[in-house]
Amino acid sequence: MRSVFIKTYGCQMNERDSEAVAAQLVAKGYTLAPSEAAADVILLNTCSVRDFAEQKAIGKMQNIAADVRKNRPDVVLGFMGCMAQSRGQELIDRLPDVDLVLGTQKFHHAADYLDEILAGHRDKIVDVAAEQGSEATIREHLLNGNAQKSVTAFVSIMQGCNQYCTFCIVPYTRGEERSRSIADIVAECRQLVSQGVKEITLLGQIVTSYGKRGFGRAELPLGQDAQQRVPTTKKTSFVQLLDAVHEIDGLERIRFTAPHPKGYGDDLIEAYARLPKLVESAHLPVQSGSDRVLKLMHRGYTRDRFLGIVKKLRRAKPDIGITTDIIVGFPGEIEDDFEQTLSLAREVQFDNAYIFKYSQRRDTPAAGMPDQVPLKIREDRNHRLLETVNEIGKRKYHAFVGRRTQILVEGPSKKNPARMTGRTRCNKIVVFEGAERHRGQLMDVKITRAGSFTLYGDPAIVNL
Ligand code: SF4
Repeated sequence: MRSVFIKTYGCQMNERDSEAVAAQLVAKGYTLAPSEAAADVILLNTCSVRDFAEQKAIGKMQNIAADVRKNRPDVVLGFMGCMAQSRGQELIDRLPDVDLVLGTQKFHHAADYLDEILAGHRDKIVDVAAEQGSEATIREHLLNGNAQKSVTAFVSIMQGCNQYCTFCIVPYTRGEERSRSIADIVAECRQLVSQGVKEITLLGQIVTSYGKRGFGRAELPLGQDAQQRVPTTKKTSFVQLLDAVHEIDGLERIRFTAPHPKGYGDDLIEAYARLPKLVESAHLPVQSGSDRVLKLMHRGYTRDRFLGIVKKLRRAKPDIGITTDIIVGFPGEIEDDFEQTLSLAREVQFDNAYIFKYSQRRDTPAAGMPDQVPLKIREDRNHRLLETVNEIGKRKYHAFVGRRTQILVEGPSKKNPARMTGRTRCNKIVVFEGAERHRGQLMDVKITRAGSFTLYGDPAIVNL
């Protein structure tokens, strides 16, 4: 029996793609190797969002290749995902020990291609072509690989992005927006719930654009006239999808990522108030607090529009947890622009923010823009913003101490498997002294302590 090891870099979409490829290979008789040292096939699922992520994956493959080619020459090595898509054949030219390069619309061919290579029918395979209907192929789940019951699951609802933010490589690595049908997604969610899943996160590069460019299959979203393709409801396709998933009996919670702020129309905000399973959590990637920089980034909203969305969300759900992504040192960003980002962070009071120093990505418009910001300034702004965000986050987390809150228990803590972790509706991790039998339960805990972006619950309060 052959074994495979998949190492994943980057975002939750990549995690989900790796899971689907692993499930596909398990179905074909592979076992999952605990490490690369024990694997017959080693795949790196790569990220291209920052240059650092690409260099890390290339460095990792160089080390693996040096080792396996000396001691285990038959091991198959492959790149898949965003860097595989953007660099294609170049990766084999640079690293001739690599056997397979699999693009982002080709994950479902992984097992067949590996069979061909392992059987000696083909030497090297590079497949990064676009493929119609590939958005509906990320559907297999491992659910923790069998031993333990998964409480949460990610469901891919769309692929690609048409926003073309000037700093972002995703539209080039993931292609045009392509959405699965509501019926297809609901069927997958129902299946997961029947296997014990309680919380589903709907995934895509820009989920709020779900269905805007049609659907990959014949079915239309609910509420559309099949003959005329005319919407019979003012709700966006994404909100129609939320409505449909919400109907699933046994499902307790719905999340989604990654949205775009301009997708937070009134129908989506109203959905937060209307759908009890849609948890009080919103990731709103603002990227900058300066209108001038937002325009250069081609984000499609202004600072005021963004603040208006936050206001409406908090009016609909006062306890909503709001997180964001921010890029510092975008080309042309001057100190005044950065100060506006700082002031926006203070005004919104984000629960957490993921801060990135701008990274030049080849073939993106921003890479060729004048006034690239020197690394030293990017680092300084990164540091200052991080201090502000951490200080706000600390206050927000400490405000939970003494409160009772509902968590969904996900399983043992990664840091200390003797303890259990759960997640609040507003997406905060809570660690507590629970037991395995609490996995999958919705329970109230009293928060006794707040650490760095983690809460701790009092075991005495937990209904043991
Ligand atoms: S919306 Fe997101 S994925 Fe799409 S181009 Fe902009 S940053 Fe990239």
